[in-house]
Amino acid sequence: MVDNKQRGKIVIDRQRCKGCYLCIEFCPFDRIEVDTELNRKGYRPARFKEEISDEEKGCTGCTMCALICPEVSIEVYRAK
Ligand code: SF4
Ligand code: SF4
Repeated sequence: MVDNKQRGKIVIDRQRCKGCYLCIEFCPFDRIEVDTELNRKGYRPARFKEEISDEEKGCTGCTMCALICPEVSIEVYRAK
């Protein structure tokens, strides 16, 4: 069930992330949240939401988050 909703996924390099949360603000489907653990720089990095509730649409692989990230710390993968 989770898989056919999720058309894309992202991988965030949590050590590069500076915690600006622009990716969270710009994701049209609310797929990114703030991690509870600090990274080595002392920021709480962004993290991908793996779980999708019934009402939510999964990641579409739109690349908005990767384009907006000033640290270039997001890679986007699209399902074939
Ligand atoms: S936009 Fe980049 S640097 Fe900013 S919170 Fe997201 S992953 Fe981190
Ligand atoms: S690729 Fe698009 S839908 Fe997926 S997390 Fe990034 S902004 Fe959100």
